[in-house]
Amino acid sequence: MGRKLLIDKVNVPDIETYEVYRKEGGYRSVEKALKTMTPEEVVEEVKKSGLRGRGGAGFPTGMKWSFLAKPEGIPRYLVCNADESEPGTFKDRYLMEKIPHYLVEGMITSSYALGANTSYIYIRGEYMWVLHILEKAIAEAYANGWLGKNILGTGYNLDLYVTCGAGAYICGEETALLESLEGKRGNPRMKPPFPAVKGLWQSPTVVNNVETIAAVVPIINDGGDEYAKIGIGKSTGTKLISACGNINKPGVYEIELGIPVEEFLYSDEYCGGIKNGKKLKACIPGGSSVPIIPHFLVCKTAKGEDRLMSYESLADGGFATGSMLGSGGFIVYDEDQCVVRNTWNLARFYRHESCGQCSPCREGTGWMEKVLYHIENGTGKMDDIDLLWDIQRRIEGNTICPLGDAAAWPVAAAIRHFREEFEWHIKNPQLAQTKNYGLVAEKVFEIAQ
Ligand code: SF4
Repeated sequence: MGRKLLIDKVNVPDIETYEVYRKEGGYRSVEKALKTMTPEEVVEEVKKSGLRGRGGAGFPTGMKWSFLAKPEGIPRYLVCNADESEPGTFKDRYLMEKIPHYLVEGMITSSYALGANTSYIYIRGEYMWVLHILEKAIAEAYANGWLGKNILGTGYNLDLYVTCGAGAYICGEETALLESLEGKRGNPRMKPPFPAVKGLWQSPTVVNNVETIAAVVPIINDGGDEYAKIGIGKSTGTKLISACGNINKPGVYEIELGIPVEEFLYSDEYCGGIKNGKKLKACIPGGSSVPIIPHFLVCKTAKGEDRLMSYESLADGGFATGSMLGSGGFIVYDEDQCVVRNTWNLARFYRHESCGQCSPCREGTGWMEKVLYHIENGTGKMDDIDLLWDIQRRIEGNTICPLGDAAAWPVAAAIRHFREEFEWHIKNPQLAQTKNYGLVAEKVFEIAQ
């Protein structure tokens, strides 16, 4: 049984209330940080921990914090990105719903470290009931002296607000989120300047994911060195994974980074294996935008080594034979899943969510959806596969924000690993809509760049 730092107490009755949370040791990190540490020492502990952003990019959190500009007389902000919209990812929701004070505690400790006196939690509009849970937790924190003026008599002031978006996936991109928070349409900004220099209201701002901020609590309680002992290599600590698809036990799990994918997928402690005794066809290990991996590369890398639940191992082999840990949305396909249909479904999602600012994304996502629709519905041509490849190639790396890449990668990986399945749909137009292609990919197709 692996260690759990974030959700070990979710089953304690009434843990969502202040009284129980406090009785279980809650808000210790705030006491420790504000009474015994300087902000710089808190940042140093986070650096020592090796914590990496849990929203998807995996950038070292301590380093991100140290980039924050500190001009005289200009306020700094911490913004928590709770706009969890990546298909297949629902671990932040679980944390906020079950143990909301954990996030509030992490926000106070982190805001202190960054010198922020006003902080925000930006939550997606679809999580309205979670917003109310957080509002209650914040009100309790104010009532008990953890927020407001002169917290714990230390002279530190912090106001914390929770605000919600209106259902746009793109507002999970940090600069789009800041635009939305300022009351504007959530269009991503050109970078530089980065938010650490000019973020919310043109002031230095750190934007961190829910799980990242929550992880600051055990790091300060136990020390960065202790946290860094968990995990493997540069993948330190624990990670929340939301597992879904054709598995016996879908749900949210906290794992020690570095456990074998095979253990996560097949052991009863986690996913419990493939549902109904079916064969594994493929896995998308980090939310819908990361490349799909065919069954023979899920538990072993192309070098034949055990594939691990870590940033490095899931990416082993680059996108040719690997993928990414991403946001931790672990999506499993059994042998009955149609890769073409599911890729079309994802393409529809990204086309719908494109903000339309840059042509490769605005036009490319629309074309990918159309071409995939034809292949799936029996009106595709053999040239369409190369056309799809060409479109995704022109999107990747050529857009203002990562949504373009997020739309391109699933299409590229589907063609790379399941080209035969695309060809089968085109050759068997009558069957394509009614019958799934049964053959499981056995090789990676070589594709001219
Ligand atoms: Fe908008 Fe897409 Fe460009 Fe991002 S990549 S700015 S979502 S058009």
